[in-house]
Amino acid sequence: NTPLHELDPAVAAAVDAELHRQQSTLEMIASENFAPVAVMEAQGSVLTNKYAEGYPGRRYYGGCEHVDVIEQIAVDRVKELFGAEHANVQPHSGAQANAAAMFALLKPGDTIMGLNLAHGGHLTHGMKINFSGKLYDVVAYHVGDDGRVDMAEVERLAKESRPKLIVAGWSAYPRQLDFAAFRRIADEVGAYLMVDMAHFAGLVAAGLHPNPVPHAHVVTTTTHKTLGGPRGGVILSTAELAKKINSAVFPGQQGGPLEHVIAAKAVAFKVCASEEFKERQRRTLEGARILAERLVEDDVKAVGADVLSGGTDVHLVLVDLRNSELDGQQAEDRLHEVGITVNRNAVPDDPRPPMVTSGLRIGTPALATRGFTAEDFTEVADVIAETLKPSFDVEALRARVTALAAKHPLYPGLR
Ligand code: PLP
Repeated sequence: NTPLHELDPAVAAAVDAELHRQQSTLEMIASENFAPVAVMEAQGSVLTNKYAEGYPGRRYYGGCEHVDVIEQIAVDRVKELFGAEHANVQPHSGAQANAAAMFALLKPGDTIMGLNLAHGGHLTHGMKINFSGKLYDVVAYHVGDDGRVDMAEVERLAKESRPKLIVAGWSAYPRQLDFAAFRRIADEVGAYLMVDMAHFAGLVAAGLHPNPVPHAHVVTTTTHKTLGGPRGGVILSTAELAKKINSAVFPGQQGGPLEHVIAAKAVAFKVCASEEFKERQRRTLEGARILAERLVEDDVKAVGADVLSGGTDVHLVLVDLRNSELDGQQAEDRLHEVGITVNRNAVPDDPRPPMVTSGLRIGTPALATRGFTAEDFTEVADVIAETLKPSFDVEALRARVTALAAKHPLYPGLR
């Protein structure tokens, strides 16, 4: 029972340093969040020791009576949260949820449609060197000049290529998708519709974003982004597809489920159903809107920066640096210097290479979880705007970041 600090001081020191980093800086990576202590407690529990191949009541190992209870709670809660007929909570990650869902519905060589990576799609939606691009014939759709998914193109490409599956979902897109229109197109060409709501699932759970579940055959998500739970994946589907989905996850893609993570997912789903969670998602959206409004002001435009699609309906803002001397890498580094963590991101028709890019993706979920209010987000937005200017004053800006971090302590008492 030797504690970590004694058994492995090197790892313990790095964990401590990471806690300090999270506490003292402003986390604005759109796909990140801060899990509640109870979620981390479940994830750090003795459940990590248990093998449980199979599903509740039908396991290939003995001693599963308690993990059965936990997994069933997770399944029931997530079905209730999103109004789904079936849920599989075993995928180890969002990528594995997508792999299993595709494995359930497709054969290698089938055609799929997904949003182009540089236009906001995810690797698993058909990127060339991802499994999805290697196993399937991919037809990518795009955003139009207005920065919104071009549904006329989706319809035209679907009719031309007759895909077996259309993926609707994104990793870097600031607007809502029209799930009913996607379903109509999918039905017209006899395709399945899969919605990957990894990014916006928390907004859906809070009733602040349209729910894809009534429209899609399958909905996948991660549990660690806006949902605010442990790192992991979930697949929701119609009852009709339940068997196919389950066998694609296990034994199709995975062995033993991570029951400690599933317990943490169950706890997170309980939090997601609370009034506090809804209020937090409202602040998440408000923060993103405040940021977008600040970043289209004239002083920011003067440095050649702009906001893709002119604003946001979700938890993130995409900054367009195609006309700026500052590239994505430089902007990310500058923000890092003042204590704000974001990620650079390719924008449509990006003239710069993928490791540099001409964009920034800035998200508000983690700060909203930390308690940031509209007033705090106004200050954050101004700090970001000032950091993008050639005249930026690192010391002054870092002091403003430190003050904001101190105002909203993260994990007080944790070490
Ligand atoms: N789907 C979308 C839309 C994502 O943005 C991501 C992660 O960024 C994933 C799937 C993959 O999730 P994971 O990193 O858990 O594999």
